[in-house]
Amino acid sequence: MRRKLLRAFGSVALAGAAAAASPSGDVPDETLRLARDLCESAAKGTRAADWVASLTDRVGPRLAGSPGDRESIAWALSTLRALGFERVRAEPVRVRVWRREAESGEVVAPHRLPLVLTALGGSVATPADGVEAEVFRVHSLEELDSAAAGAAGKIVFFDKKMERAADGSGYGRAVDVRSHGASRAARHGALGVLIRSIGTDDNRLPHTGGLDYEDGAPRIPAAALAIPDAELLARLLDAGERVRVRFRLVCGDSGEADSANVVGEVTGSRKPDEIVLLGAHRDSWDLGTGAIDDAAGCGIVLEAARRIRELSRRPARTIRVVLYANEENGGAGGKEYARAHAEELPKHAAALEADAGTGRPRGLSWLAGSSAAPTLAAIAPALAPAGAASLFPEGTGGADITPLRAAGVPVFAVLQDATRYFDYHHTANDTFDKIERDGLDRTTAAVAAFAYAAADLVQPFERVPPEKRTAPRRR
Ligand code: ZN
Ligand code: ZN
Repeated sequence: MRRKLLRAFGSVALAGAAAAASPSGDVPDETLRLARDLCESAAKGTRAADWVASLTDRVGPRLAGSPGDRESIAWALSTLRALGFERVRAEPVRVRVWRREAESGEVVAPHRLPLVLTALGGSVATPADGVEAEVFRVHSLEELDSAAAGAAGKIVFFDKKMERAADGSGYGRAVDVRSHGASRAARHGALGVLIRSIGTDDNRLPHTGGLDYEDGAPRIPAAALAIPDAELLARLLDAGERVRVRFRLVCGDSGEADSANVVGEVTGSRKPDEIVLLGAHRDSWDLGTGAIDDAAGCGIVLEAARRIRELSRRPARTIRVVLYANEENGGAGGKEYARAHAEELPKHAAALEADAGTGRPRGLSWLAGSSAAPTLAAIAPALAPAGAASLFPEGTGGADITPLRAAGVPVFAVLQDATRYFDYHHTANDTFDKIERDGLDRTTAAVAAFAYAAADLVQPFERVPPEKRTAPRRR
């Protein structure tokens, strides 16, 4: 409240003293000018794609605890050092290890037909010769609960279609069957679960992604069908057939391994102990090379911070790049960062995560105390050259920075066009050629401009109020 009053005075009674500041009072004009210049030059082209190609083409898939995960730690350390970041280090994180070895499926009645499927991350294996049963179809978790008796002894097929949308909102509405379908079906006596892939393409490439087994429920195997194969099953069922399927998964947990959050900094000029965190996750699923998810985010935050480092005038606060471990299979990196840095979190002025691919920016989402609104309104025009000047309150930040939000750290994300993102997400098709250069550069530009301004504010953003610090996590 007090800061709001000062702001009101700043624009009227103290007009002279506020001459060098924006109408919000917290953003010096020089800061805004430099942020906008940064945005304008980066929107015309950056080296972000170079860092994405380097990670996808030299390291490849990076599932937590795999050889690729370990190689990507070395990659991140050497890349951050080569780009001139300061205090580059690997902060240890223990991660769960899950391995996929073989998978297959088929319709066995009324006709024999092959099915293209892939195990959901974290799934248990089937028996060695697979699991075979009649299919019991539902379209949602709620429908399963209301028709529970039909699931016993069956393979439950979640036929829930994800809708394509520019804001990616179809994902949030569909992903609950991937996360919770296995345990929910197991409680009703099912032997296994197949889901229609959570995606928007028509390729015979299934979409993996983590499932969450609930305590107290039997652990049953779960896989995602490629969308054409899910539609085949649906047509057979629509025709009134009794459909039997068999699928076999050789996969499972194999203990824990050492991984790391890799960190590098651009030291602030006047408040070096205060942090603006730019995060992305270094790990990926195993099927593709994790280009859009999330080598793209790594490229964006590396390049944004690198461009800030090369300016002649550094911002007041430190920009800290964090390339997180294991976002996909449990979120261990984000949790460990918040635990290891607990004492320092009051000095985290802002955190932004890049984990939405390479579509063009749509704006900046934010979650902070309400007094941040006029400050952000003053910053937003600096993001206009990237097409990101729109503000979206009630943002969620990102999975890795959710534990920071829980501690009150203001969280941000550059929202991007997600129209095509879920065609490739978590599939073998997530490879470098899917990167959209213009969207990648513009997102980098918006992140750089926001980070510069946030790191140079007179007063940091007001913290997230306690009632908004917790929210469900999505991967
Ligand atoms: Zn991701
Ligand atoms: Zn992902």
